[in-house]
Amino acid sequence: ALTAGIVGLPNVGKSTLFNAITKAGALAANYPFATIDPNVGIVEVPDHRLQELTKLVKPKKTVPTAFEFTDIAGIVKGASKGEGLGNKFLSHIREVDAICQVVRAFEDENVTHVSGKVDPIDDIEVINMELVLADLESVEKRYDRVVKMARQKDKDAVAEEKILAKIKETLENNEPVRSIEFAPEEKTIVKHLSLLTAKPMLYVANVAEEEIGNPADNEFVKKIEDYAHNEGSEVIVISAKIEEELATLDEEDREMFLEDLGIEEAGLDKLIRASYNLLGLATYFTAGEQEVRAWTFIEGMTAPQCAGIIHTDFERGFIRAETVSYDDLLSNNGMTGAKEAGKVRLEGKEYLMKDGDVVHFRFNV
Ligand code: GDP
Repeated sequence: ALTAGIVGLPNVGKSTLFNAITKAGALAANYPFATIDPNVGIVEVPDHRLQELTKLVKPKKTVPTAFEFTDIAGIVKGASKGEGLGNKFLSHIREVDAICQVVRAFEDENVTHVSGKVDPIDDIEVINMELVLADLESVEKRYDRVVKMARQKDKDAVAEEKILAKIKETLENNEPVRSIEFAPEEKTIVKHLSLLTAKPMLYVANVAEEEIGNPADNEFVKKIEDYAHNEGSEVIVISAKIEEELATLDEEDREMFLEDLGIEEAGLDKLIRASYNLLGLATYFTAGEQEVRAWTFIEGMTAPQCAGIIHTDFERGFIRAETVSYDDLLSNNGMTGAKEAGKVRLEGKEYLMKDGDVVHFRFNV
C-alpha cells in the first residue's frame, strides 16, 4: 500500500499528530487490516458516499477503505551529513510515497523550539535543505557514471545524462525535483532515481487550539501558504492537540466538539483526503447485501487490475465489470432503477476505472 511519511523538526507536534492517527485507527472497530509496525498508523478514509450507499443497499456490513501514515522520527540539521539519526532518517523517507511535513505554527512558551524561536519558513528550509543535499549527493554520484557511459554512445545513458543535468542544476539552486516538469518518458527514469525531493509534499501547519476556528488570523499560516504555493504544494491547517482529543470521541461527541470549535471537518480527515489525492489514489465501491465496501486504487488502473485488489483470482479470471457511477446509482434509487435508465455498463479488460464507480466483477474461477 502507498504510504505518506510524517516528518518535521523536534517539538513541532509530530508525535501528537501521529498519536491522533493511531487512536483514530484503533477506534475504527470493523477495520479489516492490522498494523504490526509501530511506526505505521492506519486510518479510515472518510467518504460520505459510503454512508449513502449503506442507506440505499442496507447491507449487513459496511467497510471503509484505509490509508497508511508512517511516522518518521529524527530529522535535525545536518541529517544529510549523518548527524543525529541522519542516514536512517533519510532511508525511511526513501521508502514512503509522499511526505507530510509538520510545521510549528503555534506559540507556547512551555514548549521549547529547537532553534529558539517559532519561524516556520526557517524550519521548512532546514528540512528541505537536508533533502536537497541528500539528493544532490546521489545525483552527483550517478551523474559521473552516466557521463562515462554516455561517452560510449550508450543511448539510455545519453537520455539520462540530460535529465540528471537538469536535476543537478535545480538542486544546486536549492529547489526540489518535484518543481521540475518532466515529459512522460523522462518520468520513468526519474522514478528509478528514487529522489527524496521528487516525492509530493504536503505541509501541515500545526496551530494553537484557540486558533483553529480562524487560521487566517495566524501570520505563520500565511507564510507557510505562500511558501508552499510557490512550489505548487498544498497546506493543511490542524491543531494536533485537538486532533488527539477528537480521535478519542465517538461520532456524536465529535460533531458537537467540531461545532464548538467552529469547524466543519476534523483536520485529520482533511489531511487523510489530501494525502490520498496527492498520491493519485481513488475509490471504487462494491455494494451487495452482505457488504458495502470502499476500495482504494491508483488512478489509471484498469478494471482487471482493480478486481485484483479484491482477490488475485478476480484479476486472473476477469470477464467483465458491471459498472455504474455512484451519482447515477443514487439518482436512480438503486440498481434496478439505474438499469432501467440504461446507466449500468458492462466494461471490458481495457476499461480504466473511475473514482466513484460502483462495480460488480464477473469472473471465471
Ligand atoms: P514532536 O517532537 O514533533 O513529535 O512533538 P510533540 O508531538 O511531542 O509535541 C511537542 C510538544 O508540543 C508537546 O508538549 C505537545 O503537547 C505540544 N504541542 C503539540 N501540538 C500542539 C498544539 O497544537 N498546541 C500546543 N499548545 N501545544 C502543542
